Amino acid sequence: MDISIDFDKCCGAGQCVLAAPEVFDQRDEDGVVVLLDDNPPAGQTENVVQAAAACPAAVIQVRV
Ligand code: SF4
Repeated sequence: MDISIDFDKCCGAGQCVLAAPEVFDQRDEDGVVVLLDDNPPAGQTENVVQAAAACPAAVIQVRV
């Protein structure tokens, strides 16, 4: 799984962290997303796809 994020457009909504807390985190200072694992194991696929779908800024791209 490949994940790419347009960090400049992240609005810090945190939906990705709720959906996949093992893959996404947020910076303390401004809430911008932090990618903890850019190639997560297959068991995380559903969570990551949900995170991408839930992101209000649509900045998460996932290739499975
Ligand atoms: S859900 Fe989208 S906009 Fe919100 S923190 Fe995650 S990547 Fe950023």
